[in-house]
Amino acid sequence: MRPEPLFQIFSPVTGLSGIGPKIGNLICQLAGPNIVDLLWHLPVSIIDRRYSPIISQATVGSIATLTIIVDKHEPAPRRALPYRVRCHDESGFLNLVFFNGREDYLKSILPEGETRVVSGRVEQYRDEIQITHPDRIGPLHEITSIKTVEPVYPMTSGLTLKPLGRAISSALAMAPDLTEWQDTAWLKQQGWGSWQESLNSAHRPLSDRELLPNTPARARLAYDELLANQLALLIVRRRQRKRPGRSINGDGILRERVENLLPFSLTSSQKAAIKEIGVDMRSSLRMLRLLQGDVGSGKTIVALIAMLTAVENGAQSALMAPTEILARQHFATIKPLAEEIGIPVVLITSRDKGRKREEIVSSLKTGKTPIVIGTHALFQDDIVFADLALVVVDEQHRFGVHQRLALAEKGKAADILVMTATPIPRTLMMTAYGDLDTSRLTEKPLGRKPIETRAMPISRLEELIDRLRSAVSSGARVYWVCPLIDDSDSLDIAATTERHAALSQRFGDRVGLVHGRLKASEKDTVMAKFAEGDIDILVATTVIEVGVDVPEATIMVIEHAERFGLSQLHQLRGRVGRGQRSSSCILLYGESPGDAAKARLKVMRETDDGFIIAEEDLRLRGAGEILGSKQSGLPEFRIADLAAHTELIIAARDDAKLILEKDPELNSERGEALRTLLYLFERDAVVKTALSG
Ligand code: ADP
Ligand code: MG
Repeated sequence: MRPEPLFQIFSPVTGLSGIGPKIGNLICQLAGPNIVDLLWHLPVSIIDRRYSPIISQATVGSIATLTIIVDKHEPAPRRALPYRVRCHDESGFLNLVFFNGREDYLKSILPEGETRVVSGRVEQYRDEIQITHPDRIGPLHEITSIKTVEPVYPMTSGLTLKPLGRAISSALAMAPDLTEWQDTAWLKQQGWGSWQESLNSAHRPLSDRELLPNTPARARLAYDELLANQLALLIVRRRQRKRPGRSINGDGILRERVENLLPFSLTSSQKAAIKEIGVDMRSSLRMLRLLQGDVGSGKTIVALIAMLTAVENGAQSALMAPTEILARQHFATIKPLAEEIGIPVVLITSRDKGRKREEIVSSLKTGKTPIVIGTHALFQDDIVFADLALVVVDEQHRFGVHQRLALAEKGKAADILVMTATPIPRTLMMTAYGDLDTSRLTEKPLGRKPIETRAMPISRLEELIDRLRSAVSSGARVYWVCPLIDDSDSLDIAATTERHAALSQRFGDRVGLVHGRLKASEKDTVMAKFAEGDIDILVATTVIEVGVDVPEATIMVIEHAERFGLSQLHQLRGRVGRGQRSSSCILLYGESPGDAAKARLKVMRETDDGFIIAEEDLRLRGAGEILGSKQSGLPEFRIADLAAHTELIIAARDDAKLILEKDPELNSERGEALRTLLYLFERDAVVKTALSG
């Protein structure tokens, strides 16, 4: 049950006086459905109306609040001309200007002969001073409410500042006085006020400085949100840990045999990861470990060894990949190695139907097949395992928590290993997963050559094509990535198909094309040709981003590189530099890229360390953008700003740990207040399912 003091703010915004269904709808789109959502809708700038000079001294261009006497209304002589109201004070004259002004209305708010307070931007027109459409007009006794600093909120079309500001003010007035959930000493040390005080001052900034994320009011609110996030993660995690796991203890025989088959020796971070995974699997708790490593850092072999550990124990392992191409790729890597040591491996995708599928399904059910690799097809209800002990999820750069858990349910307390090629900045990691155990592959396998990266304008295309011609004639294979396909909204973009046609004119039939609209079988055919060397240039959309391993490919061209995010560029570049020959990456940019795009291209030229790139990405884009993408699976924050609040995230994590050590069920008095905090930030699912009482 939601705590009673929160009832009112968790009711629809339309319950606020003066907010009808139309404005309510707009507010709903902008901020959210409930009154509480308005509380989190913080101002982005201010209008300072405290400047109140006499007319003769009013600075043109400034926002001023003036006390004037209304002299005379001069309605517009013609429609195209404005309606003027002539005014004065003891120092001079001022015109108020209205386009399409209605006489009766204007006369009622600006009666001739009366004193009024008006506020707006001061303009010069010919040799007169004027204000066009003053933002505020009122009688003298309203001066204190007009001569203020007005917060300006993010808006949406159709909604103006006035009704929104009014709605937010009423919401603020409803913000209840809640029992403090933060530690008093900590509040004092930080110089933070109560929740209510902080909300009010966050909505009433008096200067631009008070709009910054680290102003005390905003920092306090952000910390509240981060603490709710960390508490929720820790509570869920603790519960997960309590669920019984099983001890998987391999004898190491299969692993040794497979290691002997490899034409290389494992890097020390691969060895360390294998060891950490081994410890987790042996433990009677459930493993939930993230294996992070740049593209090409050798995650697959680590996964295979983990899978073999389960097989040594007489159980089964499943590896799930996000796309069919990737699943096939893992299969192609793993199958020959596993079969060499006598371990059958099957591949299952949504393309498998009928008899073939039945056979796979039954071989998993009987346990005849110990290792399965597949796509989402692995989730289907009729897929049951004799004894699934380990689930490996290759997420590349997605973070779908739900699917991962759904697959784990198919096993008896199955361990989970999540692989990701996206190096996640530490702060994002913490807010998305809490204290998830992590192994990082930080070294590149031996013998990898660095990739030379250059940026060049698309205007130098011809030059590039000439160079490609000579590279191709000496055996190079080239990826050519385009950002969009047939996008009618942006005809200026060289769509993949067009680029393919243009390159085919130069290079004949040795140019292939893959994009998302091809059938999987067509895609596979083209990919296979490229891998075999039957084509030299593969024009592609970002479908090649995930996975695809063609060690012979040494050149990556990314067209309109300025449109890609840093981590995407990094993923793409990782497709080359996988073989013995040195590789290069050419970032082609369009006309005048913006500053942010330039900064990204610069980072790409300067480093190829994925962890550094991830931190830069966070810094350049801000977490809002990274988290904003709905598919990311990362939590979205209302107030906290992961780039600006790094220290608060770490503090919140430590705080949450300490709290739960002392009061695991949140039953103490402070615990009660913290439950309210969880509700306030809508982490209530945790309270309902993972806490007792
Ligand atoms: P990831 O999945 O992390 O992108 P892969 O596991 O596909 O990387 O490995 C990329 C390539 O590197 C594969 O061809 C693999 O055989 C090879 N590889 C893996 N580990 C090593 C190593 N320690 N030394 C040399 N090559 C390796
Ligand atoms: Mg275990």
